[in-house]
Amino acid sequence: MIPVTKSFLPPISEYMAQIQSAYANEWLTNRGELVLELESKLRNYLALETSDLLITTNGTIPLQIALKLLGEGGEVITTPFSYVATTAAIVWENCTPVFVDIHPEFLTIDESKIEAAITKKTTCILATHVFGNPCHVEAIEAIAKKHHLKVIYDAAHCFGVSYKGKSIFEYGDVSTCSFHATKLFHTGEGGAIFCKEKQLLDKVYYSHNFGHDGPLAFHGLGINGKISELQAAMGLAVLPYMGPILEAREKIVSFYDKHLDFSQIKKIKIREDTLWNYSYYPILFKHEEALLGAQQRLNALDIFPRRYFYPSLNSLPYVKPITCAVSQDIAARVLCLPLYVGLEKQSQEKIASIINNG
Ligand SMILES: *Cc1c(COP(=O)(O)O)cnc(C)c1O
Repeated sequence: MIPVTKSFLPPISEYMAQIQSAYANEWLTNRGELVLELESKLRNYLALETSDLLITTNGTIPLQIALKLLGEGGEVITTPFSYVATTAAIVWENCTPVFVDIHPEFLTIDESKIEAAITKKTTCILATHVFGNPCHVEAIEAIAKKHHLKVIYDAAHCFGVSYKGKSIFEYGDVSTCSFHATKLFHTGEGGAIFCKEKQLLDKVYYSHNFGHDGPLAFHGLGINGKISELQAAMGLAVLPYMGPILEAREKIVSFYDKHLDFSQIKKIKIREDTLWNYSYYPILFKHEEALLGAQQRLNALDIFPRRYFYPSLNSLPYVKPITCAVSQDIAARVLCLPLYVGLEKQSQEKIASIINNG
C-alpha cells in the first residue's frame, strides 16, 4: 500500500538510547531533561532570533491556548482552507469563526478581503500557512496594527520553512506547529508554540501547565498541554535526520515537477522569498470529476493520495453557513500525492503515469 505519507522512523537503537536516558533519570514528564534538550536544539535548528518556543503535547492545544489568551470569546477572522483543527479550536474556545476566502493560487487567506470582515467584535486573525506556503504576512500585520488585532498563525505544516531569511515561526503574535507523526518533523504526537513577547510566552507557559506557579500556587487558569519525555525522545532521534529528510522529499518533488503533465493539472504557487520544506504535493484538477477519476485509478493500484483539504471549513456543520467560492472550488479539486522518505522511484513513476493518462 502506498499512503499519502509515512512517518520517518529513525534507527530504533537511536530512539532507544534517548529512551534509556529517560529511564536513567526515572523522569517521564513535567519538562524533564529530554524536553528541555529538544527545545534547545529546536531553537538552534530553527535559528530563532526574536521568538522563543515551548513544546506541547500536540499542535492543537497551542491554538487553543493562543485563542484563550488572545481571542477573548470574540470573532476570529480565519481561513476556510486548512485542516479542521484550525476552525475547531476557534469554536472550542467559544470564539466565532469569520471565514475570509482564499487566494486562488497561493491557497492562503486572501489578505485583500480581510478588512471587510472586521467588526467591533473582532479580536484576532488566525490564518494558516497552508502546505508550508506563507500567508502575506506583511499585509496581515499592517491590517492587524491598524485595527488593534492580534495575529495567530497555524504553522502546523511549516517545520523548516523560512520567509525573507527568517523562520516563518517568527511572524505573528503567536505561531504554532504540529509534530504529529504525519508531519515533516515529528514526536509521534507533539507540537510547539512560538511567541516574541516574553510576557505572553509566560502566560502560555502557565496555561499549558494547569496555571501552576510552583507546587502550591496558581498563576491563573490553565490546562494540560505538556509533552512527555517519551515523545521528546522521538524528536531528539528524528531531528538529526532533517537534512536527509528534506533532501529525499526535494527529490520526489522534482520528479513530480518534471514528469507530471501540467496541461491537465496545476500546481500551487509558493510565495516569493520562501525557503519551502516540501511538506506536501498538492495538485489541482480542472474539476472534481477529474480528481475522482484519478483517485479511483490510483486506489485500484493500492495508492492512496488524500483530499487535503476537503471539505472547505466554512461548510462544517457547527459553523454559521457562509459562501467562500474560491475555497469551495479548490477543496473540490485538490489532491495531495504520496510524498515521504522511502517512496520508491518506481512508485513515483507509476503515480505520474496514472495521473497523466487519465
Ligand atoms: C496537523 C494540523 C493541526 C493539528 O495538529 P495536531 O498535532 O494533530 O494536534 C492543526 N492545523 C493544521 C493545519 C494541521 O495540519
